Parts: sequence; structure tokens; C-alpha cells
Amino acid sequence: MRKNLIAGNWKMNNTSADLDSYMTEFVNVLSDSFKKIDESTDILISVPYLILDKANKIASAYGIKVAAQNVNEHLSGAYTGEVSAPMLNDFGIEYSLVGHSERRQYFNETNQSVAAKTVVCLNHGITPIVCIGESLEERESGKTDAVLVEQIQAVMSVVEDVKNIIVAYEPVWAIGTGLTATNEQAELAHKVIRDELKKKYGEDSDKVQILYGGSAKPANIGGLLEQDNIDGGLVGGASLKAADFAEMVRISAKL
Ligand code: PEP
Repeated sequence: MRKNLIAGNWKMNNTSADLDSYMTEFVNVLSDSFKKIDESTDILISVPYLILDKANKIASAYGIKVAAQNVNEHLSGAYTGEVSAPMLNDFGIEYSLVGHSERRQYFNETNQSVAAKTVVCLNHGITPIVCIGESLEERESGKTDAVLVEQIQAVMSVVEDVKNIIVAYEPVWAIGTGLTATNEQAELAHKVIRDELKKKYGEDSDKVQILYGGSAKPANIGGLLEQDNIDGGLVGGASLKAADFAEMVRISAKL
């Protein structure tokens, strides 16, 4: 039985003061439900580097996980502005997004660099949340399945133990657009991903959390989570409001 994971991606939003007020509200809204939530649902927030350490310290008291939004594939060196896996280790950060579509789009990340980042995470005890997904053009030209298979295969080629990764299916056309994949579209895509994982990892593929991302919000997360192969959400915009994010956690935990 897979646990759900409700993961917030703050992108380049929120300062240290915002983190304080957010956590206060989030914790107040969920109050003493954390123990109950923990039985069915993991909670994670992926925040900008400069508030990672503070977020980790505050969140760990409630069992909330904290992730970086990116990690460099090199361990050290002349890569100005970048952050390495050992640096994340230094602060006890155990998760990182890898290959978010905004990184692929604006920072030229490729299937190859995403695979390299996945390796560096795994070698440093960091669970990568590997993001894949098709563009609108790819969907409209019937290439969705092929794109997903190509993207997941790039990662599979470097991963021996699939239980150490989390996958996020994020159709690019649904991210930050208000357009959400229907439950059926999302489930079909998740099934394609899990079936591909199954070819290499067999039964272990059933243990992999595959999250849906793309304009997920309180109004649509329930239907998505009912799908067999959807094990949570990677939530951008709606995770910026503590009350909305908390509501999504409640829906996942059926509270
Ligand atoms: C994301 O940032 O991964 C995301 C899915 O954003 P949004 O929920 O705003 O579409």
C-alpha cells in the first residue's frame, strides 16, 4: 500500500518571514491531526535554498519533509551560483526536486542532466523527486506516451533501486496555467510510467510514489487521488496559501 505524498513547490516565492507566518497558519489549521495524517499521507514542502535550513528545522517537529528545488550534478568546482548535494547533506536536506519543467525550459536541463542529478542525489542519500511531462504540442500530436517513456527511461538507465526515487508526472501545459489534466488523462499517464518502471524493476515499481502536478488544488485533488496510480500531488500555486495546502493534505488523509 503506497502512502500519498502531498508536496508543495514554492518555486521562487517566500522569504524567511513568510515561512514563519505560513508554518504558523499551516500547523494551526491542521492542529492535532498530524498523527492521523501521518498514517496515510506524507507532507513535503520544496522551498528556495536560503530558507531550506530554517524550513527543515521548523517542519521536522511536525514530520513535514523539506526539499530543495534543484541540485547541481557536480560535487564541487567552478559552477558559480550552484548548490551541490554535499551542501544539501551539510544541512540535513533529504529530498530534492530534479528536472522540474521550469528548469528544463529556462535552464536548459535535459534528460541527460536530469539523470546525472538523480545519480548525485542517490549517491548522497537524497531522494530525488524526478519531474517528467509532455508539452501541449507533444500531447496534441499524440506523442505523450513516447515522451514519458523517453524521459523515464533516461532516469531508469541510472537507477538501480527504484524504491529510492519519487516521480512527478507534470504535464507542462498544466503547470501554472489553471488547466488540469482530467483524472482519466492523469491516470493513463501514470499507468504508462508505472508500466515502464515495471519492465525493469518488477514488483518494486508498485512501491514508487508517482505524484501528479499541474494546477492541482483543493477542488480537484480528491478526484486525482482516487486514481489507482496517483499517489499524491506536486502542488505549485495552491501550496503558497497555507490554508489551501492544508486542505489538500486533509483531503488526502480523508479528514
Ligand atoms: C509545480 O510547480 O510543480 C506545479 C505543478 O505548479 P502549479 O501547481 O502552479 O501548476
